[in-house]
Amino acid sequence: MLTPELLEAVKGYTANLTRDVTFVVQTGEHESRAELIDFLEKFSSTSGRLSVVERDDDALRGPASFLIEAGGQSTGIVFSGIPGGHEFNSFVLAVLNNAGTPVKLDDGLKRVIEAVGEDLHFETVVSLSCHNCPDVVQTLNQFATLNPQISAEMIDGGFYSNVVDDRNVQGVPAVFLNGEPFANGKIDSATLIEKLLAKYPNVARESSGSASLPLQDVTVIGGGPAGVSSAIYAARKGFAVTIIAERFGGQVKDTMGIENLISIPETTGPEVVKGLQSHLKDYDITLKEHLRVESVEQGDIKTVTLSSGEQIRTRSVIVATGANWRELGIPGEKEYIGNGVAYCPHCDGPFFKGRDVVVVGGGNSGIEAAIDLAGIVKHVTVLEFLPELKADQVLVEKALERDNITIIKNAASQEIKATDGKVSSLVYQDRGTGEVKTLETAAVFVQIGLVPNSSFLKGVVDMSDYGEIIINEKTETSAPGIFACGDVTTVPYKQIVVALGEGSKAALSTFEYLVMHAPEVSEEAAKAA
Ligand SMILES: Cc1cc2nc3c(=O)[nH]c(=O)nc-3n(C[C@H](O)[C@H](O)[C@H](O)COP(=O)(O)OP(=O)(O)OC[C@H]3O[C@@H](n4cnc5c(N)ncnc54)[C@H](O)[C@@H]3O)c2cc1C
Repeated sequence: MLTPELLEAVKGYTANLTRDVTFVVQTGEHESRAELIDFLEKFSSTSGRLSVVERDDDALRGPASFLIEAGGQSTGIVFSGIPGGHEFNSFVLAVLNNAGTPVKLDDGLKRVIEAVGEDLHFETVVSLSCHNCPDVVQTLNQFATLNPQISAEMIDGGFYSNVVDDRNVQGVPAVFLNGEPFANGKIDSATLIEKLLAKYPNVARESSGSASLPLQDVTVIGGGPAGVSSAIYAARKGFAVTIIAERFGGQVKDTMGIENLISIPETTGPEVVKGLQSHLKDYDITLKEHLRVESVEQGDIKTVTLSSGEQIRTRSVIVATGANWRELGIPGEKEYIGNGVAYCPHCDGPFFKGRDVVVVGGGNSGIEAAIDLAGIVKHVTVLEFLPELKADQVLVEKALERDNITIIKNAASQEIKATDGKVSSLVYQDRGTGEVKTLETAAVFVQIGLVPNSSFLKGVVDMSDYGEIIINEKTETSAPGIFACGDVTTVPYKQIVVALGEGSKAALSTFEYLVMHAPEVSEEAAKAA
């Protein structure tokens, strides 16, 4: 797993550790324990400050678990399993954050986490092929690093299948707080933080008061391709820019193969997100991640209120909040999320290895999901509501080439049923004959399109009947000084290149507004902000 090339790269990160870090491995027998110790010893060979000891420790789940100690003290961070695959970065980050590298989390959030005054023990069940899981693991590890009353354990469901069975886990990441289910399946760091802020509203309010930024020229809401493009273009004009991203990367994070990002013939979502991140870092832009914008108050100076309670005063706003998975809205969907109802085939597909599953939706994302799942599960049935598939012909042809994909058109999903709390069938109606049929299935992957993330702007800007923000060719909305771009708008064709282009357009229009049309802001008003 740790190749000489990877170890060489790790050396670059561990060269400047300022604290000793020890990996405490639980004693005992486990078939993969030798592999775990080999992994940790090789990793430790990259710095004189890293070491491995074997010891019985109450904090550890079993012989394939290890705890991170820094400066002789427990950090509260435990990995149960070998943190390879997508969790390798979580492991490296946990080591660096506890050996001198500051935790990169929004300052307001840091204050909230540091102020939590009770013991919180988080356990996160992951699969190493899950793309969303590292976000959650890293966020909880950062919490543990910031507050000694918080501890965080990553549990690889493949290593500890007893946890998966005992806790009925069917979707990852599955987060437990003090032994109770906390969040499951369709979650990310922002959801976790939101739940924590909801649990401690007073802490959030008190901690956010002192966090104010100076008056911003441009505040971009959304960290997908449209938002990042507009933030970079705005920063290149010399403006003070803040970008708020509930989930940096947006939908691109959920995309595996990308073949239409012109000039890059073939890439993946995570690669594009990495590119967006590093390009953004080249500019002096304030990034506030894992936070949701709750409201925008219109005025010469606009007020943007975040889920942490923090308020940002700004001369202009660019809305680039994209879209989210649409839910089916049928009985059984909400009830069994994480127990067979899933929205992310890349994350949850491996749980249904060798079983029959259903994908609802015959658009691009549905057919793409079916093709991905067909490589893992026994059989995929795609249900499309309309008499014809809406997906691109290339994708449909790929799906038809597989002998374990069946496509049923003109089918209205009616109910998801479960046995012993886990999805067991989907009831649908054949819209042609009216006949009601039942499909036995272990999982239902919902892929029926997207809803624009615009509800927080109701009454502030005009929207279409579908909730898309109405813009003109210059990305102007009905509210002066508020621009919008990308999938959240009425712009036709929701694509990455379109979002990137629209983002740049929004920033250039904002520039024009700020230099030519924006009301003068008095020195007092600016200072008050
Ligand atoms: C499965 C899948 C596959 C796809 N494949 C392709 C492809 O191959 N090629 C292609 O060109 N396009 C593809 N697309 C479409 C493409 O990903 C989108 O068109 C593009 O990401 C839109 O960019 P955006 O910035 O407008 O929105 P998004 O990518 O949706 O980003 C929105 C951002 O806003 C944030 N946000 C939302 N609400 C708030 C709030 N209240 N406060 C703070 N932040 C908020 C989100 O967290 C996110 O950071 C695919 C989409 C999906 C779902």
